Amino acid sequence: MTQKYYPTIGLEIHAELATESKMFCSCKNNPDEEHPNVNICPVCMAHPGALPTFNKKAIESMIKIGMAVGGNVADFTEFDRKNYFYPDIPKGYQITQYKFPIVSGGELAGVQLTRIHLEEDTGTSKHLSTTTGADDKKTAGYSLVDYNRAGVPLMELVTEPVIHDAETAMRFAKELQLLLRTLGVGHANMEKGEMRVEANISISPDPNVFGTKVEVKNLNSFSVVGKAIAYEIKRMTALHEAGRANEIVQETRGWNDIKGETFSQRTKESAHDYRYFPDPDLPKLHLHSLFSLDELKGALPELPWEKRNRYTSEYGIKPEDIESYVTDIVLSAYFEKVVSLFSEKDAELIVLASNYITSDLIGLQKSNSEFVFPTPELFAELITLANDGLLSSRAVKDILPILATENRSPKDIAEERGLIQKNDPEALKKIAEEIIEKNPAVVDQIRSGKETAIMSLVGQMMKSTNGSANPKLAQDILREIIMK
Ligand code: ADP
Ligand code: ZN
Ligand code: MG
Repeated sequence: MTQKYYPTIGLEIHAELATESKMFCSCKNNPDEEHPNVNICPVCMAHPGALPTFNKKAIESMIKIGMAVGGNVADFTEFDRKNYFYPDIPKGYQITQYKFPIVSGGELAGVQLTRIHLEEDTGTSKHLSTTTGADDKKTAGYSLVDYNRAGVPLMELVTEPVIHDAETAMRFAKELQLLLRTLGVGHANMEKGEMRVEANISISPDPNVFGTKVEVKNLNSFSVVGKAIAYEIKRMTALHEAGRANEIVQETRGWNDIKGETFSQRTKESAHDYRYFPDPDLPKLHLHSLFSLDELKGALPELPWEKRNRYTSEYGIKPEDIESYVTDIVLSAYFEKVVSLFSEKDAELIVLASNYITSDLIGLQKSNSEFVFPTPELFAELITLANDGLLSSRAVKDILPILATENRSPKDIAEERGLIQKNDPEALKKIAEEIIEKNPAVVDQIRSGKETAIMSLVGQMMKSTNGSANPKLAQDILREIIMK
């Protein structure tokens, strides 16, 4: 019997908050600043005597996040100093929250959260080699530090160890990104380092006992999160199977994207090494009197999962379509506007509109970044014509790009180009009778129950009308005659 191993994963995710200014000073928080060390001041550079003040907007963002995930928003909170030395932290400590996080508990994408706290980001180091911008031997081996990011508000979210596979971990990270963007509190671009994921991973032969965990740091894309977790599970399983489970040690590991492997960085320091203590320069806060929680709650936008539910029950469109709208506020506003313009809230009409938006309009936009969507009014008119059987899907596809640039009635465009489908039942009936007469074998098949055979007759009708017959009507007429 082969032994089964149970993986456990807990995530720690950092995300910069998109505030105007930094967390404890009035320096600009600008992740796109290209010149190093321009957004700095005595406070974030830790000059002696400089005193921090806290950024209320950042705390407000944290409260919104906490409410969105159904966590407990603390009344009492304070900031602590986490002491360690590294060139990218000018103070010799990082201001963070240790005992009293702003948010505790809550749930996101089915994963229980431990806490969400607020801290300040570090600066960024650039280690020069001849391939990373050193001007040859003179500066190779030097490190430069940019403090523009030092002191930028950073949230840290910690999940409970309740994830068991790489897929769920990736889905969680994506949902968090979407939530931060929906709330308008962070851009959370992983490739820019605005959101950074660390995965704690262990496996155990006993589902009720945790194994030793490793922490994989600096995972900078969703796919790398998935790959690193899968790799660790494989590595640990192999060690167990080789009888070398004792070689799994609690440590920090990095990800080598070229090799597709994790590698050991250092064995982990424990909390007491940091000598946390409350920052004496910052006030202790009572959030419930500092903020109107009811007001903040009332002002929350529609959350991704709420939108999913509403779209499912109101519109009955495909889950992939819903996901396109949930991740793109501009697109969903367009879709909702189109739906509001339909005189009848017909399910078929809505589904048809959604199909053309998520496949054709998005497709046109992907192939041409200049592409501007047609106005919702004209688009709604076009979809109504299609739904009434006046336009084939081919015709709709042809008209869409014209509609976007010419801003004219889709009906006029269709008429000009002879794209209006023939819907005259009498004319179609005549053609249908001819085709039925020429295809007795197919007709027999249909009569004996092979319904799908009718499509070959529909095809012939389209051909003999040069594609202008309404295929649905053609099919109805054929069936009516055959089954009479
Ligand atoms: P540490 O003290 O090492 O920082 P914590 O208990 O604070 O550990 O947890 C840090 C993260 O590791 C959390 O996301 C938690 O869910 C996760 N974690 C804890 N134990 C395990 C484990 N055995 N396997 C996987 N993840 C774990
Ligand atoms: Zn500053
Ligand atoms: Mg910890």
